[in-house]
Amino acid sequence: MNQETIAIHAGYDTKTGVGAMSVPIYSATAFDFGTAQTAANRFCLAELGPIYSRLTNPTLDILETRFATLDKGAAAISTSSGQAATFFALANLAQVGDNVIVAKKIYGGSSTLITHTMKRFGINARLFDSDNADELESLIDENTRAIFFESLSNPQIAIPDIEKITKIAKKHKIVTIADNTVATPVLFEAFKHGVDVTLYSATKYIGGQGNVMGGMIVSSKELNSLLVNNPRYPHFNEPDESYHGLVYGTLAANFDIFTLRIRLSLMRDIGATLSPSSAYGLIQGLETLSIRMQKHCQNAQKIAEFLNTHPKVKSVNYPGLKNDPFYDKAQRYLKDGLASGLISFDLSSKEAATRVINSTKLFSIVVNIGDTKSLITHPASTTHSQLSEEELEKVGVGAGSIRLSIGIEDANDLIEDLKQALDNA
Ligand code: PLP
Repeated sequence: MNQETIAIHAGYDTKTGVGAMSVPIYSATAFDFGTAQTAANRFCLAELGPIYSRLTNPTLDILETRFATLDKGAAAISTSSGQAATFFALANLAQVGDNVIVAKKIYGGSSTLITHTMKRFGINARLFDSDNADELESLIDENTRAIFFESLSNPQIAIPDIEKITKIAKKHKIVTIADNTVATPVLFEAFKHGVDVTLYSATKYIGGQGNVMGGMIVSSKELNSLLVNNPRYPHFNEPDESYHGLVYGTLAANFDIFTLRIRLSLMRDIGATLSPSSAYGLIQGLETLSIRMQKHCQNAQKIAEFLNTHPKVKSVNYPGLKNDPFYDKAQRYLKDGLASGLISFDLSSKEAATRVINSTKLFSIVVNIGDTKSLITHPASTTHSQLSEEELEKVGVGAGSIRLSIGIEDANDLIEDLKQALDNA
């Protein structure tokens, strides 16, 4: 099946239950096992089925099955937000004394989570320049547990040297994690390029209308074989004391052990679970993801071309532009070279950026991306404000940088709005 069909049909058969055409919202905390034996069987995984909604829920199951199929992965697990997805994906691989290697150009919230909060848990981050990944191999040691990057970074809209990164990771048997939020499975098929885990802020393009928070983690079909008997990942290959001595690696023939361990251990203990009504919202979003992405990309391309020739704009980052440093990578990695809906551009100063932001009429001043409505942000004073000046420089966010998330309105109306706003720059 093609992605557009999967996004509408996978994981739910309207001929089951009462035949509801829209996926039912199972708004229940817990599920009646019927017999004590069934209860025991579900807990020891001899039988699969709902237990308690912190762990599993039929509405979430449908979303997860549909999303894993769409992303061409083995299995998916949803989370209450993108941040929770990032934390779970990394905490499933690393623990105190370990390190993770992280691209410099990533979302500000991921950066604070990984480099500051996770450091307090004893997990150290080592930063690498993902534009070329030349220094990556020298940062790896026996305690390295993951390599993390964004396939299209927010807000720089940079594209890493993905195949170089995954090749180095494979040589050292290390799991690669790509935050595929901005590209989505529609534009970037991560597993085809050797990535092991994808994750998403589903809050963005997946939901698509700025009304649901959520996250997704997806494992590749090859991930089980990378984890089993790999000395880098002892907790997949030794008894889990917290789950009556279960060895995840021994279940690899029947389960995706990466998402299983998140569910049985991290989700059980930390509980950043998606709500069934949010899962329903994301299922609605998935149905139109493909057509929305086409329109976001078409609009962004036109707007980037307009900004690229505007005399007050110093530079524009959009990999759909032929003069963009990531144009070749966009052609290589992204479907039809389409570069999603984010654009960043630089004006001469913070003051000029502020005047332009305050003068737009159709763009809302919002720290979100991936909405049907167009959004405008000043990253240095908002999404990336927790970073020091030095850190901002490292991640390529300047004082005069503006980020746009282009919606699906009429492109000419958006251009007219930016034109009048730029008169005030
Ligand atoms: N990853 C990226 C690329 C993001 O842009 C964001 C949020 O902006 C996140 C992760 C975090 O997602 P959430 O806000 O759903 O927690």
